Amino acid sequence: MRYKKGQFYIENVSAEKIAKKFGTPTYVYSHNKIENNINNFKKIFKTINPLICFSVKSNSNLSILSIINKFGLGADVVSKGELIAALKAKIKPEKIVFSGVGKTIEELKFAINKKILLINAESENEIIEIEKIAKSRKKKINIGIRLNPDTDAKTLKKISTGKKENKFGLTERKFLELLNKYRDSKLINIICLSVHIGSQITSHIPYKNMLNVVDKIIKKSKFKFKYIDLGGGMGIQYKKNFKKLNYSKYNKLIKSFLKKNNSDIIFEPGRSIIGNAGYLISKIIYIKKTNSKNFVILDTAMNDLLRPALYGAVHRILPSKINKTKVLKKHEFVGPICETTDKFLNVLNYQKINQKDIIVICDVGAYGIVLSSNYNLRPKPPEILVNKTSTKIITKRQKLNNII
Ligand SMILES: *Cc1c(COP(=O)(O)O)cnc(C)c1O
Repeated sequence: MRYKKGQFYIENVSAEKIAKKFGTPTYVYSHNKIENNINNFKKIFKTINPLICFSVKSNSNLSILSIINKFGLGADVVSKGELIAALKAKIKPEKIVFSGVGKTIEELKFAINKKILLINAESENEIIEIEKIAKSRKKKINIGIRLNPDTDAKTLKKISTGKKENKFGLTERKFLELLNKYRDSKLINIICLSVHIGSQITSHIPYKNMLNVVDKIIKKSKFKFKYIDLGGGMGIQYKKNFKKLNYSKYNKLIKSFLKKNNSDIIFEPGRSIIGNAGYLISKIIYIKKTNSKNFVILDTAMNDLLRPALYGAVHRILPSKINKTKVLKKHEFVGPICETTDKFLNVLNYQKINQKDIIVICDVGAYGIVLSSNYNLRPKPPEILVNKTSTKIITKRQKLNNII
């Protein structure tokens, strides 16, 4: 499907053409895929009618956020910077939620000034600081409290957030204690219970367990939450044979939860909206052959795409032009950075490839460019948005004299 006459295409533009026009390495996004992902997400949860707050930390490019806004989504932000970006992309404050364990007082004040929908507090200290701000402003402030449901997300350990050993949210006991402390407060208005158990979740079972815990706690608290914020975490298929989240089962679970609890649902998806809409185009610098394997040395590295080095994440690497010659040998795709973990993928056999060939690393739209750095004093790649036949630079390539 991606290939036309043996050439890799992103919408109507070939990877070769992008490489020629913009150089390599380069991040590319498909407008059409973003649009489809948003529409599918809305369609699946249509009867729930949720507020969908795009997780800005997955991709904070202003042009991407403008697309997000164009399709009516709100934003989930985790810093003042992300909040400014969301507002700059014209996302309405009443569609913005603020998450994170370590919001500074300055960040809290800024968010309160901007009149965002709610702050999801994650500790008693944080609520106390919000209360102080409320007191000085003589107004009541809307907050959510994040619950740590002690639920195993069954995903990579390093991207799990909902177990009691993780720093996120409050335990059931503390949650109920704070709810009682603040339920009649004149300064704090608790309107939301929030949870987010992790990322790249591919089974509905962790969500089922999470909903059971939330349901139980609401019963215990006898409290009516205007919103239940279920977070994000919906996984995508990084490889064809990888497990896929059954959205319709998740939807059913939420619907039966809502029969018992009459609240509005908030989602905070990141990866499932932008993940598969992004590509990283790179050129092969050298192929170093050894007895046991061929090292394919790319001009992109862990500074551009950290996920494999950081979490052991797997991203497919596809040739920009296909041929029928197979090389029966191990191929290890690596970057030029002086770190052993600067490698992307091991592939057993691969088609014949050569120095200067163009390859495409897939599904890098989420947690790609946002995790990039200038390690080894490498300038960051540009970002290009493809819409049918058009290509537009949405972030310029950094120049060495910007970073030295
Ligand atoms: C990271 C994060 C998300 C988004 O997670 P995805 O896996 O990208 O959907 C949502 N909510 C919170 C609180 C987060 O930290």
